[in-house]
Amino acid sequence: MKIIMLGAPGAGKGTQAKMIAEKYEIPHISTGDIFRANIKNNTELGKKAKAYMDAGQLVPDELTVALVLDRIKKADCVKGYILDGFPRTIPQADALDSALNDRGEKIEYAINVDVPDEHIIKRMSGRRACSDCGATYHVVYNPTKEEGVCDACHGSLVLRDDDKPETVKKRLEVYHEQTKPLIDHYGAKNVLHTVDGTLDIDVVFAEINKFLGE
Ligand code: ADP
Ligand code: ADP
Ligand code: ZN
Repeated sequence: MKIIMLGAPGAGKGTQAKMIAEKYEIPHISTGDIFRANIKNNTELGKKAKAYMDAGQLVPDELTVALVLDRIKKADCVKGYILDGFPRTIPQADALDSALNDRGEKIEYAINVDVPDEHIIKRMSGRRACSDCGATYHVVYNPTKEEGVCDACHGSLVLRDDDKPETVKKRLEVYHEQTKPLIDHYGAKNVLHTVDGTLDIDVVFAEINKFLGE
């Protein structure tokens, strides 16, 4: 089962992707998490990615594509995977599609989590991310059992640097310009499923399971 998640920053891609990955026992591959882990470990990739991320811009395709194509070749991906935050540009989608095509494979589900911009800024200010495992929570909509502590791994929760309102606005602009065209791209391939991301987390998950369970 090969799945990609589409949607604005803060639409709930990561939240849903984690639940899908657990249920279908496939790896959850988040390019944002990979970049953040590289920044934390001060790698060359992390150093390059940080300036773009802090500015709310995309990391260049050259850096991102190679990383993902490498990752999906790993042994844990044989049964499939869920890509969260990739592809984010048409060139990234073309590179992914052509690498898969070479192996007689394809993306089977592109899940578009639809949330209007007005909701996003409000949502982001309440987002908290685990600094260890990357799990995301929300102070109101998805609180942890213990304040500031990750339910999954007991790591400490932080407000991401790029979740400040100014940076979120920039990321939304970038989304509309560069990522939104992917909705039509995957629509044309007949693999697109759009869900209303303003519904409760469990309701969105139930909607997704309706078509994944087919
Ligand atoms: P969100 O969860 O808000 O959608 P992510 O964690 O997916 O954000 O991404 C955070 C940042 O990492 C992006 O703003 C961008 O700078 C960088 N990034 C993540 N995925 C990609 C990608 N596929 N291409 C380019 N940049 C990316
Ligand atoms: P993305 O990966 O698309 O950037 P996240 O999954 O990190 O988005 O979700 C962004 C924020 O919104 C998080 O704080 C998350 O807990 C919260 N959230 C996710 N889905 C919903 C939902 N359906 N309703 C309300 N809040 C949500
Ligand atoms: Zn954690």
